[in-house]
Amino acid sequence: MATRGITILGATGSIGRSTLDVLARHREAYEVVALTANRNADGLFALCQEHRPAFAVLVESEAARQLAARVQAAGLPTRVLAGEAALREVAALPQVDCVMAAIVGATGLAPTLAAVQAKKRVLLANKEALVVGGAWFMSALRESGAELIPIDSEHNAVFQCLPANYRTGHMPAGITRILLTASGGPLRDWPLDRMAAVTPEQACAHPNWVMGRKISVDSATMMNKGLEIIEARWLFDLMPEQIEVVVHPQSVVHSMVEYVDGSVLAQLGNPDMRTPIAQALAYPARLAAGVTPLDLIATRQLDFAAPDLARFPCLAHAYAALRAGGAMPVVLNAANEIAVAAFLAGQLAFTGIAALLERALTHFSSARADDLDTALAVDAEVRAWAGRALAEGKT
Ligand code: NAD
Ligand code: MG
Repeated sequence: MATRGITILGATGSIGRSTLDVLARHREAYEVVALTANRNADGLFALCQEHRPAFAVLVESEAARQLAARVQAAGLPTRVLAGEAALREVAALPQVDCVMAAIVGATGLAPTLAAVQAKKRVLLANKEALVVGGAWFMSALRESGAELIPIDSEHNAVFQCLPANYRTGHMPAGITRILLTASGGPLRDWPLDRMAAVTPEQACAHPNWVMGRKISVDSATMMNKGLEIIEARWLFDLMPEQIEVVVHPQSVVHSMVEYVDGSVLAQLGNPDMRTPIAQALAYPARLAAGVTPLDLIATRQLDFAAPDLARFPCLAHAYAALRAGGAMPVVLNAANEIAVAAFLAGQLAFTGIAALLERALTHFSSARADDLDTALAVDAEVRAWAGRALAEGKT
C-alpha cells in the first residue's frame, strides 16, 4: 500500500499529539510531512526528532529561528518555516493527502481553507474555523471536491451513524434530527450562585476528557456545545431545530442520529480522541488506535437529561447566534475567545464570559461576513471591541 502524506496543523496540542500517537502505530501506512505549532520550539523540536517531518512551521519568527538552529545541529531532515503563510503552504503541499486541522481558535481558518482548496482530505478538529467560515466555507468545500471528516467526537459519531456513501456538506436523506451528547463539563451540577467564583483550575478539571485549556473552559460554560451545534449545522446541512443537545455525563454515547422510521443510531466508545482520529484517517477502512475497549458492564449505567440553559447561558447565546445567522456566529466566537483568554488570565469572572457574549451579539447585530476577508475583519473588530470592554471593566 502506498503511504499517505500527512500535515498536522497544531501538532503540539492535545489533538495533535493524539494524532501522532495513532500515526506512530502505523508508520508503514503514513508519512508525517509537516508539523506546525504557534511558538513552542521545545515541543515541536521533540516531535521533529521523533517523527522526522520534511517541514516544521512555527508562527512566531524568533521561536522558528531557534528551532531551525536545533534541527540543523541535530542533523534532522526537516526544513523549518516561519509565519502564518507557511501554515497555508504546508496545508497545500502536493505530497500531502491528508491535513489534520487541530489549531485552536479562528486563527486556524485560513490554513484549513487552504487545505480544502488544495482538495485534501481534511480532518476537522478546529471547530472555531467552521463556526467562523459557515456557509461560504462549505461552498468552498463543495466547489473543490475536498473531503471533510469531523474529528469532534460528537460530529464524528454522527458521521459514523450516517449512510456509508454520505459526504459532509450535504443534508443526509431520511433523517429527522441529530442528538449531540454533552458531558455537562466539570460544573454540571454546580448551583448558579457558585458560578461567579469558579476558578480556571476548577473550570479546566474535566471529568472525562483531557484537552487544551481553551476547549476545557468552553466545556465548563457549555459554550463548547454551543459551538458544536453551529458546527453540526454546517457539516450536515441541518436546520437549527434538527439539532438537539442531550446531557450525558458518562461520555460513552458520543452522539446519535434519528431517522424518519423511528430508528436512532448511536456511536459508543470510551472517551478517547484517538477513536475519531483513527476513523477519519483510515475511512472507510479501520485502524487500531490503542484505545481501551469499552466495558459496558463496568459502565453499568447511561444517563440522559435536558441541558439547563439558566445555569449555562452560553448555550442559549449559541442557539440565538445560529438562528440569527449572518455574522452572528463569528461575533459569538470572537467574543468567546477573548472572554476565555481573560478568564484564564484571572481578569474576568467565569460568569463574565456569558455576559460579554451577550453584549457582543447585541452590539454587532448588523455585521456581515461572506468570505474569508470579511469574516476575519469582523473577527478582528469584535476582538478589539471585547478587549476595550474588558479594559473598561464593563462586564
Ligand atoms: P491545544 O491548546 O492543546 O493545542 C492547540 C494547538 O494549536 C497547539 O499546537 C498550538 O501551538 C496551536 N496554536 C495555538 N494558537 C495558534 C496560533 N495563533 N497560530 C497557529 N497555531 C496555534 O488545543 P486542543 O485541545 O488540541 O484543541 C485543538 C482544536 O480541536 C480546538 O479547536 C478544539 O476545540 C478542538 N477539539 C479538541 C478536542 C480535544 O479533546 N482536545 C476535542 C474536540 C475538538
Ligand atoms: Mg466535542
